[in-house]
Amino acid sequence: MAKHTIVLIPGDGIGPEVSTATKRILEAAGLSVEWVELPAGITAIEQGFDNVLPQRTLAAIQAHKVALKGPVTTPIGKGFTSVNVQLRKKLTLYAAVRPTKSLPQIKTRFENVDIVIVRENTEGLYSGLEQEVVPGVVTSLKVATELACTRISRFAFRYATRNHRKKITVFHKANIMKMSDGMLLNCARKIHEDEYPNIDYEEMIIDAGCMRLVQDPTRFDVLLTENFYGDVVSDLCAGLVGGLGVVPGCNFGEDAAVFEAVHGSAPDIAGKNIANPLALLMSANLMLSYIHEDVIARKVEAAYRKVLDEGKSLTRDLGGAAGTSEFADAVIAALG
Ligand code: NAD
Repeated sequence: MAKHTIVLIPGDGIGPEVSTATKRILEAAGLSVEWVELPAGITAIEQGFDNVLPQRTLAAIQAHKVALKGPVTTPIGKGFTSVNVQLRKKLTLYAAVRPTKSLPQIKTRFENVDIVIVRENTEGLYSGLEQEVVPGVVTSLKVATELACTRISRFAFRYATRNHRKKITVFHKANIMKMSDGMLLNCARKIHEDEYPNIDYEEMIIDAGCMRLVQDPTRFDVLLTENFYGDVVSDLCAGLVGGLGVVPGCNFGEDAAVFEAVHGSAPDIAGKNIANPLALLMSANLMLSYIHEDVIARKVEAAYRKVLDEGKSLTRDLGGAAGTSEFADAVIAALG
């Protein structure tokens, strides 16, 4: 079996715990891998790098093309700009894909939720362009370019086609942000009409869209959004299927892909061995398919489903009492 070289960014908060658990499971499942472990965020400074996003970390992802990443904390209201945003911009990881699917073992208000969020990852309100105009007045610029709106629209339609999805819904607020959100709508309409007329297409103002999401999420298939709405809607959808502990994600660019869960560094539970590693494990499973290790991906999925079925080794967020490492042990045992 080919040996893969994969960059591993453990991150901080619960990152090291969930990434250790995931790494153990992948290796136990037979993945032949050399991990290139590198820091990002505050851990980079702690390890003596002069930047929260070291050039070595970026260069390794560029060289090896694939990374598995734990969450990284961003200081609130002050301090360094988000490492996650910097990483996505510097590597042009323009498409975040978050498959949000009901797991039969996890009882929530709804069954059969199966929504894929495709979030634009490089612009919008995440441009980081903020200024104080005069004391007491600040602005944040929302950026929308035709290039990025076309690129994410084409990505969403191509994703839908390749994954046998039927419909794309664009969440927007173009009644208010006529130019910026209007740009995404114009680009999405054009890609739909010119290139993918076979995929159903609809547009929904985001406030009404959120109401419909919580009334009946099963009516949605692929959601296409700009950056900020995608962030918010991802957590909303996570809540529909059992929480942030069970929603994976990946960030795709032309030259590299970084796989990470939707959740953050969860400082409230960090260092206690109680975080659910499943979201990162599911992200790793998406990575296994991406690197053509489908057999191992199926094996890992069968093992974690068995653990969910048995229900004895669930973490607290899923109603159990197991720790992060116990859950990992149970999945490893279930690999057979
Ligand atoms: P969060 O996702 O870290 O936590 C929200 C809630 O969900 C918390 O109660 C937490 O305990 C719980 N939770 C999250 N992941 C869990 C898991 N795997 N198992 C069990 N419970 C889990 O969101 P937050 O508190 O808003 O953000 C904390 C930090 O994470 C912030 O600095 C934020 O900027 C950062 N963040 C990073 C990323 C990333 O690295 N991609 C993503 C989102 C947030």
